[in-house]
Amino acid sequence: MSDTREFCPQCGDPVARPEPRPGEPRDGTALLCDSCYFDAFELIDVPDRVHVTVCGRCGAVHRGNRWVDLGAVDYTDVAIEAVSEALSVHIDADDVEWGVEPEQVDETTIRMHCSFSGVVRGTPISEQLTVPVRIGKEVCDRCGRIAGGYYASILQIRAEDRPVRPDEADAAIEVAESYVADREADGDREAFITSVDRSDEAGPNVKLSTNKLGQAIATRITDRFGGTVDDYPTLVTEDGDGNEVYRVTFVARLPKYTPGDVVDPEDGEGPVVVTSAHGNLKGTRLRSGERYEAGHEDGTTPDVTKLGRTNEAVDTTVVAVEDEHAVQLLDPETYEAKTVGRPDYFDPDAETVPVLKDGQNVYILPEEMV
Ligand SMILES: [Zn+2]
Ligand SMILES: [Zn+2]
Repeated sequence: MSDTREFCPQCGDPVARPEPRPGEPRDGTALLCDSCYFDAFELIDVPDRVHVTVCGRCGAVHRGNRWVDLGAVDYTDVAIEAVSEALSVHIDADDVEWGVEPEQVDETTIRMHCSFSGVVRGTPISEQLTVPVRIGKEVCDRCGRIAGGYYASILQIRAEDRPVRPDEADAAIEVAESYVADREADGDREAFITSVDRSDEAGPNVKLSTNKLGQAIATRITDRFGGTVDDYPTLVTEDGDGNEVYRVTFVARLPKYTPGDVVDPEDGEGPVVVTSAHGNLKGTRLRSGERYEAGHEDGTTPDVTKLGRTNEAVDTTVVAVEDEHAVQLLDPETYEAKTVGRPDYFDPDAETVPVLKDGQNVYILPEEMV
């Protein structure tokens, strides 16, 4: 490879440089001598200041033309990322490395002290820069819609022939909240709960951002507790293209009887503690421990009388095990000794057992259901 002798177009000094490789462009700066080249050289090109816009309500960050949930607790990482996106490194530089030292000036300003190093024309060079980052707060489109009370669907949590119990309401709302949180975690910013209203005695009403959410949550609730889902679409408007827009009310109707209820089918076999209300009512007989299952035609609403719930159980003393069908207990109210049916779940070594009293009758409950 032979050197050719040329002259710097800026200062006229002779410059020795190898022939350019075929296809390599010879731009103006490639002809300059090192001295003139480095006089004008800037390793890093960066704007005077960098702006980051975040949502003051949910902390989402505005990127490009959309909002992104980062779950950022402080915005230092966001600011570093914004600076690294805003800066450009000179194309002639090799082996470029950079470090940054953020300095929080106040709530909305972070000064980024950046240091860069690289190799240009075989010469190691370095550069220090300070870039102020302004954090601007706005309200993202989702928070704006939540604040404006926007919703597309109402989920009503109800129960068959009875009000929803507080523990069921809590559990159903928890299903809704965790489902929406999962969608959000997957990056779905269209998924949100607008409001939860517990003022209706029949059960809670949850306003949701999309019909899809209403359907999915109603189904999850009845998958877990049993029951049925009904939907009632209401035409609210037509969109710009003349398509009809429906707002759908989904009713997740919990079964009339649920696990923990003690019911009497009045078939001579004695009361039953309900263990499942999926499909048809299932349970355990309190006198024998035998299995009970309602006929399929009766589903979850067989003709039974509700006696109470397992959370009303009280502990009482076992006096004696009479035989394989009978146990003597103290009546928890009168303290009289009483002979009751011995279910197969009864532990013969137990000193006390949970019981439910109904009128003059005392029933032993399964320990694990109390
Ligand atoms: Zn020169
Ligand atoms: Zn927001």
